[in-house]
Amino acid sequence: MIRAVKGTRDILPPASRVWNHVEDVARRVMQSYHYSEIRTPIFEETSLFARGVGEETDIVSKEMYTFEDRDGASLTLRPENTAGVIRSFIEHRLDQVPGLQKLYYMGPMFRRERPQKGRYRQFSQIGAEVIGSESPAVDAEVIEMVIEILTRCGLDGFQLLLNSVGCKECRARYVAELRERLAGVANRLCHDCQRRVQTNPLRVLDCKIPEDQPIIDALPSILDFLCEPCGIHFAAVRAYLNDRGIQYEVKPRLVRGLDYYMRTTFEVVHGALGAQNSVLGGGRYDGLAQSLGSKAPAPGIGFSIGEDRLVMSVEEAHPDRHKDTVDLFIAPMGGNALRHSTVLARELRRNGVCVEIAFEGKLKRALELANKTGARYALIVGDNEIQSGAYALKNMATGEQENVSRERLTEVLYGRNH
Ligand SMILES: [Zn+2]
Ligand SMILES: [Zn+2]
Repeated sequence: MIRAVKGTRDILPPASRVWNHVEDVARRVMQSYHYSEIRTPIFEETSLFARGVGEETDIVSKEMYTFEDRDGASLTLRPENTAGVIRSFIEHRLDQVPGLQKLYYMGPMFRRERPQKGRYRQFSQIGAEVIGSESPAVDAEVIEMVIEILTRCGLDGFQLLLNSVGCKECRARYVAELRERLAGVANRLCHDCQRRVQTNPLRVLDCKIPEDQPIIDALPSILDFLCEPCGIHFAAVRAYLNDRGIQYEVKPRLVRGLDYYMRTTFEVVHGALGAQNSVLGGGRYDGLAQSLGSKAPAPGIGFSIGEDRLVMSVEEAHPDRHKDTVDLFIAPMGGNALRHSTVLARELRRNGVCVEIAFEGKLKRALELANKTGARYALIVGDNEIQSGAYALKNMATGEQENVSRERLTEVLYGRNH
């Protein structure tokens, strides 16, 4: 037997319904903020991610699916999608289009991570990017929008973490201070951190090793190093969130270690997921477009939701979201009734009713199946019913049965659906 590749999985019904639900909600919310979908290729030139995500990151150095194409080009399955969206923005001169570019995407990403519960090598993200403004009002609106998506998916009890990582100038002063402070304690830190002290001290703040935490907690906060414009920007983001009554916790350790990340960073964590509890992350990346070859500055901010984790949280909070939604299960008795039923089913389906037909088997089996499927109603169609123009309609929840005309049938069914 051939099985799905390690780290990948099949998403089957009924779980796929939760995926559809979450995606529908996200689309509706993002469209109401006037975002449009962008679909970029699943593989790109490897150099895009090396430059756009960062050569030193775990993603690029250890986790990418990189392969040589038949013509020798180095290609990579996308490990994330901000780099791809910005590449597309530059390639298609979207900076020439009037107004902000507000783009969303959803789809699979690929990282060769160590297999563990809830982590997949093919995983899905729902994300968005806004390109063309430095305004803190944009940051607050993006955060408001992701909160809206989570809330309308039916999640609560999540927590928004917020920080500012400053700009090139003030962050450089902070990193210099960090380097100095870390020099004295580096030998007490974990192996990875000892390397980070040399390559990218900011990344020490991301360390999850328990033994390192007291040392890291004692390090200075980046917020004490923000320059005046960065301080004003961060205060404005918080004020805009306060205006909306959106709760957050300022978390100075929430940093992104790459040069083009600037100012606002945020993350949402949810208790239901245990230690690996981040549902989404995002931040401002004002220098990214230029580092990928844009001539004009194109400040932007974006986020990506880990859809696998979001779905897991929604499943835990609302086990009923799996529910099947067959409105009517038709049980025809005999060949003539089947022909009649198929025409009836077509008409009902065109009006948005979900109809299932028992193509084979006896009436008793058909009604059992209707019950197992969770259908709301079953309709018994036999030659007598066709002749008299009245079908036997059974309410599967109450067990009540009534004879209904065709008009009454559509009334009952459309009444539920419209
Ligand atoms: Zn600054
Ligand atoms: Zn460490």
